[in-house]
Amino acid sequence: MPAHILQEISGSYSTTTTITAPPSGGQQNGGEKLEKNPHHWGADVRPELKDDLYDPSYQDEEGPPPKLEYVWRNIILMALLHLGALYGITLVPSCRLYTCLFAYLYYVISALGITAGAHRLWSHRTYKARLPLRLFLIIANTMAFQNDVYEWARDHRAHHKFSETHADPHNSRRGFFFSHVGWLLVRKHPAVKEKGGKLDMSDLKAEKLVMFQRRYYKPGLLLMCFILPTLVPWYCWGETFLNSLCVSTFLRYAVVLNATWLVNSAAHLYGYRPYDKNISSRENILVSMGAVGEGFHNYHHAFPYDYSASEYRWHINFTTFFIDCMAALGLAYDRKRVSKAAVLARIKRTGDGSCKSG
Ligand SMILES: [Zn+2]
Ligand SMILES: [Zn+2]
Repeated sequence: MPAHILQEISGSYSTTTTITAPPSGGQQNGGEKLEKNPHHWGADVRPELKDDLYDPSYQDEEGPPPKLEYVWRNIILMALLHLGALYGITLVPSCRLYTCLFAYLYYVISALGITAGAHRLWSHRTYKARLPLRLFLIIANTMAFQNDVYEWARDHRAHHKFSETHADPHNSRRGFFFSHVGWLLVRKHPAVKEKGGKLDMSDLKAEKLVMFQRRYYKPGLLLMCFILPTLVPWYCWGETFLNSLCVSTFLRYAVVLNATWLVNSAAHLYGYRPYDKNISSRENILVSMGAVGEGFHNYHHAFPYDYSASEYRWHINFTTFFIDCMAALGLAYDRKRVSKAAVLARIKRTGDGSCKSG
């Protein structure tokens, strides 16, 4: 652990670890190099994880733009899903109230499976969760069908470590469409495979629940993302099969996908950069609303180890509210939080001078 890391336990939240940056920057540890590299500034207290921190030493080699190799199966399936979802919108007025409520609940739970689960817990290790919560999150994550947690976290760590290079799976330098959904419709750039394959994933390999989901992912996603949400409204309260399929399944799934993808596209292209103007990710309130709190993206890339993924806690951030509720129940603990002093120092040092989020 770097020498400049100071750790203190906050008095107000007994299971929150507050991370405090040194008053004079990163000079205590390695001096010059860290001082010149604002991305390593701030501190990190996760012994189990280091490979989600930005590595500015990796840059693209000069050369022609990468050739696109289309994956037609994904293109066709994604097109059919979105056609089904668009048709689902026209069916909403004819749905029973229970169906709309069920689809909304399914959206919130599956979104939490991504934000509180794959993202803040498993990709970044920003807090710890006891078995009942991890069970809930792995089920919720399977409902969301965005690849299994192991693959999601590997792509996401590469996105943070090699941001805006060809080794970033959804490199936003390749445009809105590519970073939104295009990256799922073409073969991965060789740099993604090469650099992603070398990331330290030992923490997830050692987690039985994550490996269990990976092993049984196909039947799991078919059941949780497609079969169950279609059968429940149809069987339990007599919704028509078509409404169930197109609204509760296709529309709900497409909404969760697009809300998540907006974090990779819109929140890397539109918004302020109050914490670090040298990185592309931005603060985007609209994205936060759709992605239950994940739109404070300039902050998140500046401090990927903060469990709130935002300078604030419950401000347009349902995921933080959820994790705090779980902490109150004793199911979440050791929530990592960056200190106000470290945030203010970072704003002064690398911010773009714009207003803060919210
Ligand atoms: Zn990002
Ligand atoms: Zn992240």
